[in-house]
Amino acid sequence: MASTESQKSILKLNLEGNPVLRHKLSETDITQDLEWDKISDLMHRTMVAANGMGLAANQVNVGLRMFVMNSDAKTFINPHIIETSKEKQSQEEGCLSFPNLFFQVTRPKYILVEYHNDKLEEKVDRFEDIWAQCIQHEIDHLNGVLFIDHASKLKLDRARIKQRKANDTSRR
Ligand code: ZN
Repeated sequence: MASTESQKSILKLNLEGNPVLRHKLSETDITQDLEWDKISDLMHRTMVAANGMGLAANQVNVGLRMFVMNSDAKTFINPHIIETSKEKQSQEEGCLSFPNLFFQVTRPKYILVEYHNDKLEEKVDRFEDIWAQCIQHEIDHLNGVLFIDHASKLKLDRARIKQRKANDTSRR
């Protein structure tokens, strides 16, 4: 017998060109009577199914200022970066809304983030390296900013060539 567990759905991903990706999400009223843990789980499942590291609400038409990340601190509602390091790092980034597009993005190495988790508890945590990179990428999404906005034309052109090759291969 099929369990309801196996029928859990995932959300549809908005891909490049979808205007929703450019929408800025305004601060969410966390006193709203919503099933926050269920919304968070649904976004999580969608992210994991797509092999993602992070997923922002406007990538899946959720109108809440939140994102999920594939880490212990998994849900970030109304996240605010309250401190960034002067020290920068460059890491390769990809985005579930831009299949097979990868390039290096330079961002602060450490950040201090204030947010609410899926239990609506207020948190302040410090993140570094790949997690700091991911959080900054996701908060950009919530502001309608995309990682391509951080690339020079030359860098983006090069990455697009590789992307086209990879997309052609995966279509075969
Ligand atoms: Zn992204």
